[in-house]
Amino acid sequence: MKESGLQMYLKNISMENINTALVAYLANLDMVAKTFPEIAENIVKEFSDQRTHLKLIASENYCSLSVQAAMGNLLTDKYAEGYPEHRYYGGCQNIDAIESAAAEEAKLLFGAEYAYVQPHAGADANITAYWAILSAKIEMPALEKIGEMNVSNLTEQQWEALRQKLGNQKLMGLDYYSGGHLTHGYRQNISARMFQTCSYTVDKKTGLLDYDQIEEQALKEKPLILLAGYSAYPRSINFRKFKEIAEKAGAVLMVDMAHFAGLVAGKVFTGDEDPVRWADIVTTTTHKTLRGPRGALILCKKEFADVVNKGCPLVLGGPLPHMMAAKAIAFREAQSKAYQDYAHQVRDNARALADAAMKLGMRLQTGGTDNHLMLIDVQPFGLTGRQAETAMTQCGITLNRNALPFDPNGAWFTSGLRIGTPAVTTLGMKEPEMQEIAEMIYAVLKATKPAKTKSGGQSRTHVEIDSKVKIKTEQKVKDLLKRFVLYPELDLELLKRIYIR
Ligand code: PLP
Repeated sequence: MKESGLQMYLKNISMENINTALVAYLANLDMVAKTFPEIAENIVKEFSDQRTHLKLIASENYCSLSVQAAMGNLLTDKYAEGYPEHRYYGGCQNIDAIESAAAEEAKLLFGAEYAYVQPHAGADANITAYWAILSAKIEMPALEKIGEMNVSNLTEQQWEALRQKLGNQKLMGLDYYSGGHLTHGYRQNISARMFQTCSYTVDKKTGLLDYDQIEEQALKEKPLILLAGYSAYPRSINFRKFKEIAEKAGAVLMVDMAHFAGLVAGKVFTGDEDPVRWADIVTTTTHKTLRGPRGALILCKKEFADVVNKGCPLVLGGPLPHMMAAKAIAFREAQSKAYQDYAHQVRDNARALADAAMKLGMRLQTGGTDNHLMLIDVQPFGLTGRQAETAMTQCGITLNRNALPFDPNGAWFTSGLRIGTPAVTTLGMKEPEMQEIAEMIYAVLKATKPAKTKSGGQSRTHVEIDSKVKIKTEQKVKDLLKRFVLYPELDLELLKRIYIR
């Protein structure tokens, strides 16, 4: 039989020099490759890409190897619909322990009254939270009124009246084109089909949230849910003010902190900027600044605990026990001093990068950042966001284009680049490296122009990049990533030799 990767490694190494992380990876990849070599090959290729490209995607990070280990095992085989001590399946005692531990760690980390760790993704967490609010504020009072708490016992007529009522509520979140997320009421998403949406925008002149304007709108619209949170807003938010507005308007305050949860966990955002303190319900992904596995979490005040707990089966499919185990690890990691230092450095790096970019002459949405991300306006370079993204990718820099508020180029081409510091900070980069990165971005944007179309016009998609600048930038990215290595304990060259055919 052909030697496995692990056997090859162990043959050439003495006991005292064994690298256990590498052994674990080799054992894993050997098992994958035995059944499907191309999958093992692509895992290693992805590792190689991530190690050799500068990751500036604001919503991505690198989780720890402990987090990865917790999610790759037999826990995936278990069904556990329901919640701890209240399952629709037998034999859930270990899953109960894992889910409870993850929830407990989340409560400790964020100082939350209640934590629900089942949501599979941020989008699922938001839909679950919406339905929890609809249950608590619309369904329960309606059922109480007719004296029947079990929906299965309603007549067809009563059921239809309830369904109409549930489907006729208002959601007021940040508009997609002002940096809100698809799930905050964008028409392409189910959220806009469930609710009447009455989104607020950032101020046209400043690009900032205008709390007076939001209050005026909330008092006029009287939404069931006032939603704060964003995918692309470079400033901090005053959640105390949001709470005051919600109270005046009789709305539930929900916050989607998917992007900046790590800054809350790491105590960068405290006091008025801590959403867990002020909001009735908080949702978040666990894989962005928080640096955990791909997944999500809901935190809420006790009042909403019972309805949130019914997320499965109300909205969610069966929980993913392996992912809940990985979330527990991440929540514990995030309680360390090292994580708090990391979170502060994420923001310091974002500020340093933004300052360096502006000094070079680049235009930033709102003139800077308070969090982990910034938006660069690429219109002065004569490019669309799409072209700027392509140029960066071709030079070894991975990031994404993003619409600017009221973007004349729409959501597909866009006029902006969104840049985040969570991943490069995990690699250990600090302020001097942010200066280098700003210079690289500026050099590439200056050296890129729209390609000519066949009819002689200007493409909005394709680009021409000065080849000298391209080669120089690629080399700079390589040099930088040689100094800041992703998962240094893993021997990438060995993995490539074994698994890439
Ligand atoms: N909420 C916000 C604010 C986000 O930025 C995102 C993802 O980008 C989501 C929710 C959705 O997360 P997921 O991709 O895990 O569904």
